Amino acid sequence: MAWTSTWKKKFYIPGQTEPFKLSRSKIDLFVDCPRCFYLDRRLEVGRPSMPPFTLNSAVDHLLKKEFDMHRKAGTPHPLMTENGLDFVPFDHDKINEWRENFVGVQYLHKESNFLVFGAVDDLWVDAKGKVHVVDYKATSKDEAVTKLEDTKWHDQYRRQMEIYQWLLKHNDLNVSDTGYFVYVTGRKDLDSFDGKLEFYTNLISYKGKSDWVDETLMQAKACLDGDSIPEAGHDCEYCNYRENAGNAFKKHVAKFGAKAMGKKGSATSSNKVKK
Ligand code: SF4
Repeated sequence: MAWTSTWKKKFYIPGQTEPFKLSRSKIDLFVDCPRCFYLDRRLEVGRPSMPPFTLNSAVDHLLKKEFDMHRKAGTPHPLMTENGLDFVPFDHDKINEWRENFVGVQYLHKESNFLVFGAVDDLWVDAKGKVHVVDYKATSKDEAVTKLEDTKWHDQYRRQMEIYQWLLKHNDLNVSDTGYFVYVTGRKDLDSFDGKLEFYTNLISYKGKSDWVDETLMQAKACLDGDSIPEAGHDCEYCNYRENAGNAFKKHVAKFGAKAMGKKGSATSSNKVKK
């Protein structure tokens, strides 16, 4: 049975016997920077959240609706036929569960005791019954994205596809190593907006290789079980901000003493906008 979004436990406690729920994006965080992963999953300090990508969500939502119509009818979407693919959207009892955020496709990796999960955008099936993972991507650039290398997140997108393939294979599906990105690029080369955005739509195939996933999960577990803070994976503006802010506060308190910390609201009260 799948764990659902009501399952609250978030932070890792070394030695815990209960499976630890770990999303696809947190695995990616570990690959990107073990220090941020440790801060987030073990020390309970997450990165600041980003503003919601509401336009991208709208595109995803509409694409899902469009492919769902063909799923229901059992017919190929024109994008499939235009690209010479003898496919239809995959219909399965669990398709909605697999696409639901915070539920998704799940697998308990016994060696790490991580309950790994990730929500797919779509699955297509070919004439031989092989299931292909599909991810929708929306962006806006001067030129259409026609290959993964056209984006700076291509490594992340490859890992994303590979984890979904790994998860679905562990759910006993006949999964192809070849997945697809439906890449839509908002056009900026038109003369005016006229109340609508127009997109180029490209299908990008990618042959995944999931052989790194098991080992990475074990490394992530070792990271969370350890008591020392891991090295940062790279230099980034979040760390610089944290360090600069901490140093600035320390210097300020050293100069003005404890009163420099002020009372709640005192800093803003003197800066109120005068009417
Ligand atoms: S370098 Fe960036 S990603 Fe790594 S710990 Fe610092 S803030 Fe996090």
